[in-house]
Amino acid sequence: MIGAVDIGGTKIAVGMVDDAGKVLSRMEAPTDPNRYSDGIELIAHMLRKTAQRAGAELTGIGIGSTGPVDPMRGEFGDVDFLPGWRGKSPVKDLSTVFNVQVALENDGDAAALAEAGWGAGRNRSRLIYVTVGTGIGGGIVLDGKLYRGVDGAHPEIGHHVVDPAGPQCTCGFRGCWESLAAGPAMVAWLERNAPADYPHRQGITAKRICELAQQQDLLALQAIEHEAFYLGLGLANLINLFAPDAIVLSGSVMKSAELFLDRIHALLRSGGRFVPAETPELMLASLGEDTNLIGAARVWHYRFA
Ligand SMILES: [Zn+2]
Repeated sequence: MIGAVDIGGTKIAVGMVDDAGKVLSRMEAPTDPNRYSDGIELIAHMLRKTAQRAGAELTGIGIGSTGPVDPMRGEFGDVDFLPGWRGKSPVKDLSTVFNVQVALENDGDAAALAEAGWGAGRNRSRLIYVTVGTGIGGGIVLDGKLYRGVDGAHPEIGHHVVDPAGPQCTCGFRGCWESLAAGPAMVAWLERNAPADYPHRQGITAKRICELAQQQDLLALQAIEHEAFYLGLGLANLINLFAPDAIVLSGSVMKSAELFLDRIHALLRSGGRFVPAETPELMLASLGEDTNLIGAARVWHYRFA
């Protein structure tokens, strides 16, 4: 039984995952961004508790974390959301406590491994996993191997530039895919374009825009059109660059995938003359809410099994 640890900027989820990728027990708690030692104690406590609930003995620990992380050294990098955790090694610390092998990956890579191993991407040799929520992230698995960049760097697919005249992005460039096609971009577009008397303006969210579009609200439908256009452009770029077998789509915005997919397919058909744009399959992630946790467990299997 693998102990899975999913470390996000605001919460930590811990669970026991069997060797078929099934979550047998889980717990979560808020992340303290500044106090690493308290965080590790909390994780150890949750690992013991969830193992006990699953009636399982811990044989290894896999960690997926908000990045950047150094997977080979097992250390946190310059993580924006967790300043007190920078440079610390949860791999070393948890293996000392539990005396088992521990592996760490970026959470996008962990989720990509899970979808490739246990999810929608099984039997696809060239797979790109894309999660669209408050940002855009993902991971690339080629012939069963996680694609790593120089010094183990994680490729940031959300930061390829789609429009150099686009909004300023946190990475330093303007018009990154994420700044134009993640959930907040859809909200920003609606807020810019809604007339003053638009009744749903107050507290609008990406989720709400999708609901309104389902009810045929015209402005929400335009926001969807705009969102699908930029999502499609980024996917077209990935297809031209990698010619993958499949792209697995995940994240909160993709819970309303039915609003976007036809529009995205139409956009892909309008270009892509050189790489067959129709062949790479666009699939929806199949592991559900626990993808990141299952991904964390998959990290252990990927490294050691
Ligand atoms: Zn960027």
